[in-house]
Parts: sequence; C-alpha cells; structure tokens
Amino acid sequence: MAGHRFDRRRIKRHHSYTIDEAARAIGAARATVSRWLTKGLPAIRDRKPYLILGDDLAAFMAGRAQPKRTCPPGTCYCVKCREARRPAGNMAEFIAINAHSGNLSALCPECGSLMHRRTSFKQLEAIRAILDVTIVERQPRLNDSGHLSTNEHFKKD
Ligand SMILES: [Zn+2]
Repeated sequence: MAGHRFDRRRIKRHHSYTIDEAARAIGAARATVSRWLTKGLPAIRDRKPYLILGDDLAAFMAGRAQPKRTCPPGTCYCVKCREARRPAGNMAEFIAINAHSGNLSALCPECGSLMHRRTSFKQLEAIRAILDVTIVERQPRLNDSGHLSTNEHFKKD
C-alpha cells in the first residue's frame, strides 16, 4: 500500500495526463503513479509518453481508497488516513471499558492522529504478542494511588 492519501479532487476528469503531470496533480511521487500503471491503472500506451485519462485516474484512486473494514491483527484503523495502520513505535494503550473488552488507542505513524480500536480481552492477548501494550487502569479515585500524588512528591523535591 502506498501509505498516503492523495487528493483526487484535483484531477480534471476530461484532461489527459502524462505520468509526471498526474503525479504532480495529485501530489504523489512519479514512481507511485508508475506502479499504479502496473497494477491496473489504464493508460493510452500506443505512444510515448503514456497518457492517463483523468477519469481513469480518479476511478482507480477511488477504488484504492476503499476503507478496509477489518484491520489485520496489530493494527488500528486511522480515520484520517482511511487505512489500517501499525501504531507508531508499535506502542498502544488499552483501557478496559467493561469486564470483557476495552479500547485500544495508538498513534498513527503517518499523520499522528489518535486511532482507536475496540478490543476484547481475548484479542488483546494476541495483540500483546505483536505490540507493546500498556494497560491503563482506570481508577475512580486517582489521587489515592495515581499520578497526582507522584507529581506532588516531585514538586517538593
Ligand atoms: Zn493516519
């Protein structure tokens, strides 16, 4: 996967593009567009440079941009990137919501957004084999044993 989201609204549908022009129009690398040509992006190839129709480019990108509904193990879905991502630094936090499941949160390595994934305790075991998961205890009274008293202590020192 390219790992980036390109702006297909900038494509003029009735325009034809060389690879360079297409790449520039959507803010992609030339190599990315070349690769798409090998993966089914149609082009007029009977002369050089190849020409890509704006319509074809937009349709191809629309197909690629379909969000995957299931995220592979060890990944979270980034709403901003619209892709499943392996968390930055392979680190995630897990906060239990109830006795069976909780919310796994991690940072997207591409855009820095916070990603969330509802995760059961059973799934969590598998995820912990892949990611470095910090289990966050949700204490109703933080000041009894949590961070606040620790900070107090540091301030006095
Ligand atoms: Zn992202």
